[in-house]
Amino acid sequence: MRTLTLLCAVAAMGWTSAASAEVLRIGHPLCHAVSPAVPGSDAIPENFACDGQPEGYQKGTLWLHALLPPGADERDDLSLIIHSSRFDRLVVYFSYADGAIERQDVRSGDFGTHWRAGGQLAFRAPHRDVPLVGVTMRFDKVASAGLLRMRLVGRGEESTQTTGLATSIGAALVLLLAGAIYNASLAVAVRRQFSAWQAGWAACMILWGGCWSQLHLFFFPRMAGALSSQICTGLSCLAICLATLSAVTALDSQSVNRWLRRAALWLTGGVAALGLPLSLMRSGPIETLGSLLGVLILANLLAVACCIGQAWRRGSAEARSFAGAWSVPMLVLASTEFVDTDRMFWGGGSQILVLFAAAWQTLWLSIAASRSHARLRIERDMARRAEAQAQELARRDALTGLPNRRGFIERVGTVLETSQEQGQVVGLLLIDVDWFKSINDVYGHEAGDVVLAAIARRIAPYESPSCTVARLGGEEFAVMVAGLEGFALIRFAETLRQEISACEHGDLIGQRKVTVSIGIAEASTGGDFRSLYRLADEALYEAKRQGRDQVAIRLLDEPEPTADDLGQVALGS
Ligand code: GH3
Ligand code: MG
Ligand code: MG
Repeated sequence: MRTLTLLCAVAAMGWTSAASAEVLRIGHPLCHAVSPAVPGSDAIPENFACDGQPEGYQKGTLWLHALLPPGADERDDLSLIIHSSRFDRLVVYFSYADGAIERQDVRSGDFGTHWRAGGQLAFRAPHRDVPLVGVTMRFDKVASAGLLRMRLVGRGEESTQTTGLATSIGAALVLLLAGAIYNASLAVAVRRQFSAWQAGWAACMILWGGCWSQLHLFFFPRMAGALSSQICTGLSCLAICLATLSAVTALDSQSVNRWLRRAALWLTGGVAALGLPLSLMRSGPIETLGSLLGVLILANLLAVACCIGQAWRRGSAEARSFAGAWSVPMLVLASTEFVDTDRMFWGGGSQILVLFAAAWQTLWLSIAASRSHARLRIERDMARRAEAQAQELARRDALTGLPNRRGFIERVGTVLETSQEQGQVVGLLLIDVDWFKSINDVYGHEAGDVVLAAIARRIAPYESPSCTVARLGGEEFAVMVAGLEGFALIRFAETLRQEISACEHGDLIGQRKVTVSIGIAEASTGGDFRSLYRLADEALYEAKRQGRDQVAIRLLDEPEPTADDLGQVALGS
């Protein structure tokens, strides 16, 4: 919206500042004459025709002459502004009331101090005491008389218009540069083909803008004239091809009809095939081919508009972004067909409009690309969070919320590694509910579940960096504890056993007491989980065999485990 307001403001300023300029056209008020190219001859022809169009000038000399408009002869500060075109040499003659003639000239490759921003040449009528009565122009080997545009303005206006035009060209080029850099970095960062075409297109428009506006003459003055104008034609065709490719590659193949897409690409090929040779031409049917190229470009834009429209109807999000981005350039191109832009925008005409429309398009698409990437990033973050949650759930037991066997084994691996590094002892406690099957049988499976959950609530608070708890499955729980050995470890297991047997299970199972047997495996110099588990299971079996509701221990590092010195400790309840 802000860009639109800026465009309107620029348009308004441009319109008002150029409105007072006097546009000169062949026929009104310019009369014309054509003479063969005679080197060294500077004689102005006697006879000028004021009707019809000049012919046969491409290989000779085209003369244009105008008597100054009413009132202009009273002014002594006039500037003649000519839009640079393809010619070998241009001489401007200012005629004064006393018959004196002042002459200024430029040639292709040397515009001297006459070039101005916006592809213009300025010739200031020298100040004399007698009035200026006429102006004559001599173009040697001009490519097309129909493409010549010129106007008369006051010198003060010329400065204002040149400054306004240079500023607006600079602003449009900076916007385009920002768009080009942003799209190029997007293309590299996310490897998106569309962004690469878009960056290429913006870069092409910058080159075209620099070349059309003649800002490049600061650095390469010898490119002045025909060469720059030819490069501009080539670049504008290339820009249209890149813009079409960026639009067609961004819309996915399901949303656009295959034939419509092909038509757009064929027309792009046509624009390139006609535009590039046309940019090299210095003579021949330039105007006819130029008109044909204009029709091809319009057809190409129409095909792209149809692709965008169809993709939008089929629900493509990219199509909506493109519609917003392309609508302004399309309107601009269409408006230049119907509105006379020669007097607008400080003399910048339709080209400055195209430059701003291109900046609009790049910025719009950059913003659209940023928004779609932000959306993708949010979706990716959500997917990652959901995946992490799923992973966490896969490691937890649904009934008790404790880590399950998988989660326990993973955690225990790290505990064993650290305790081995730090030379700590570790103990694995296997806790099995006694006669649990009978609880299920007598009070029901649901009651059994509630009992398991209550036991889990007793064990859970022991979870800490040095103590890992889990429900391994069924009515079997496990605790891995680091840093406790011998009697301290047995006392810890004993406390746990007593706490569990002291659990209140309410009315669910009446007055029945739920006890557990605990098998401990102790390893003083570390050990792998498998051996610890096997040993703890043996100790648990022993505790069960000894009458349940008790703790039994086995040491992993004992040299010769025999039936008697297995280190069983049976502490009665
Ligand atoms: P012991 O003292 O020898 O360990 O006897 P026990 O009855 O506890 O052992 P047993 O292995 O014979 O029975 C375990 C029972 O635990 C069998 C199974 O139905 C029950 N069980 C396993 N998982 C669950 C569960 O998630 N919920 C409930 N309610 N019961 C379960
Ligand atoms: Mg069991
Ligand atoms: Mg059991």
